[in-house]
Amino acid sequence: MTENEFYKNYEVPQDLKFRTADILLLGGLNCSAKLAPQYFEDLFTLPNKITQVHVELEFWPTGKEIMARGRVWGQRQVRCDRCLKETSQTFEENFIDSYSTQSEIIDIMLLVRQTLALTEDIQFLCSAECKGLCSLCGKDLNEGPCECRPEVLSPFAALKGKFK
Ligand SMILES: [Zn+2]
Ligand SMILES: [Zn+2]
Repeated sequence: MTENEFYKNYEVPQDLKFRTADILLLGGLNCSAKLAPQYFEDLFTLPNKITQVHVELEFWPTGKEIMARGRVWGQRQVRCDRCLKETSQTFEENFIDSYSTQSEIIDIMLLVRQTLALTEDIQFLCSAECKGLCSLCGKDLNEGPCECRPEVLSPFAALKGKFK
């Protein structure tokens, strides 16, 4: 099989564990793939979850090392931290790393998972202007103001009516 044929027939492994020998044989590689969201199921705390994942990768040998650079993007289902509504949003992250040509496998899955795991710490919001829920009645304040009035909050409100 010639290099060209190999390149044409090269199939991106779904688990993103690339054989170093393949990348060296090809003299580098550009590829992209759609991945099963199941690979990332455990990364987020439910109900937050990733529902669609794509990766785009570029490998290039530099002598003793192989550089890998890529982009991961897709859709995720997240619950807003303020109003608790679930929304679907897109995400996109970039990553880069280098691997020794001595290692047998280049584990890009690990790199992608680490990149996505870092985004779990950020606050998820349905929009930057989300007003959240009223801490007293629980009404979604994005839908309008609630019935809670200042006098209800006052400690004297409860005494009102007792001394008529
Ligand atoms: Zn919200
Ligand atoms: Zn309220």
